[in-house]
Amino acid sequence: MAKYAPGSFTKNFAWNQHGPGLMRLHTTIRAGYLGALATVEREAWRANSGIDDASLDLIPINFFLHNRAGQISVDELVFQAIKRPHSLRFDRLALFALLLSRVGNPPGKAEARPFMWANEFVRRDLWQSGDWRSSALLDTNLDRFIKDHVNGVKDSLVKCRNNLRGMFEYCGYWPTSLPTINSGAEEWAASALFLAWDRHLLDGAPATEAALLDTVKTEELYRLMGVEEAWLAPMAATLLGEYLDAGGIRRFQVPAATSAPTTPAAPPPRAPTSTPAAPARPKPEIILAELLDEQGLDDAVKRTIRQAAVQKRNQRLAAKLRLGYGHRCQFCRRSLQIGEGRFYSEAAHIKPIGLPHDGPDKMSNMIVLCPNHHIQFDHGILRIVKDGARYVLSSKIEGDPIHEKLLLLKHKLDDVCVNWHFEWWEKAGR
Ligand SMILES: [Zn+2]
Repeated sequence: MAKYAPGSFTKNFAWNQHGPGLMRLHTTIRAGYLGALATVEREAWRANSGIDDASLDLIPINFFLHNRAGQISVDELVFQAIKRPHSLRFDRLALFALLLSRVGNPPGKAEARPFMWANEFVRRDLWQSGDWRSSALLDTNLDRFIKDHVNGVKDSLVKCRNNLRGMFEYCGYWPTSLPTINSGAEEWAASALFLAWDRHLLDGAPATEAALLDTVKTEELYRLMGVEEAWLAPMAATLLGEYLDAGGIRRFQVPAATSAPTTPAAPPPRAPTSTPAAPARPKPEIILAELLDEQGLDDAVKRTIRQAAVQKRNQRLAAKLRLGYGHRCQFCRRSLQIGEGRFYSEAAHIKPIGLPHDGPDKMSNMIVLCPNHHIQFDHGILRIVKDGARYVLSSKIEGDPIHEKLLLLKHKLDDVCVNWHFEWWEKAGR
């Protein structure tokens, strides 16, 4: 049986220290890249991020981000951190990045996949018949797995357990009294696939459709997402076209302002007309201590429990709404079939919940959309106009067939949120 080194994962990393969930990780990534989607030299990243103390392990780099030839790469996780406000969806994508364990080659690290013990834990132990089995996260089970798969003394093994389970806590998956954990992957699977493909390409794998699609099976991505392969595979097949059309890993390259006119145009970034202007550089946080004391950890756990209860409710509302519409998109009125008798839709928040927008966590702030229209709605390409008692769609794309069509509506909407979304994207530069 292969045994792995625990590495710096035995350091405490309480990424929820400055807010709910993995808020601190989100802030640190934005700071590390100075809020721009461009690769950064490792040392510069370290200084920008505010964690340039040589005595601290660069946990976000070594476990969450991808290193290549001394550069910290840009990929979907970085895109989400820089272009989107912090959300539960980001936290879950970060957990996925951690579990995927494709982080390039950090200098001085022999293993290109430093977190394979946790990757194996999820694929072999946590995942069972399309779900995550909550008993796998209990002390007894987790300790046994770690003892069998990680080299280290008892104290470091306990830290491995607490840190790994802490990640599941920050993501609202733990604690639970239910036998199975609903990963809620329909909310983040698309980003996770993009991220897995990004890292696959950054690791030098061939950019063929077959090779990219194969990752679902060979890397058992569906297990890392807590879903059935039969659910993920057709979705991956649909999304791969979108991924390649957007330019694959090159979708983040933007033409340099100084390029000569003869330079061939770089592939366009995703949704070039709608991406909000890069946020102002956040002030690097002053990190007083990497280690959380016992008291701090207890508080963190209590906050997480409260947070988890709210998230559960939110998931239930979203599921109820999607069923209520029979997975029919309220914009195009189509439902995406992903198997025999199985359909897929997403619940979109009109005003994003969580900071900074803090939209209400209720059904009247949600609509049911197909994945494509969800992305366009989140980028303000599609908006809803309240016109008397009617809700009319407005598209920024010329000739869009759904422009000026009526919103399919079976539930009451919060007009404050509808107007907020319209106004937010109306502002200059959006
Ligand atoms: Zn649609």
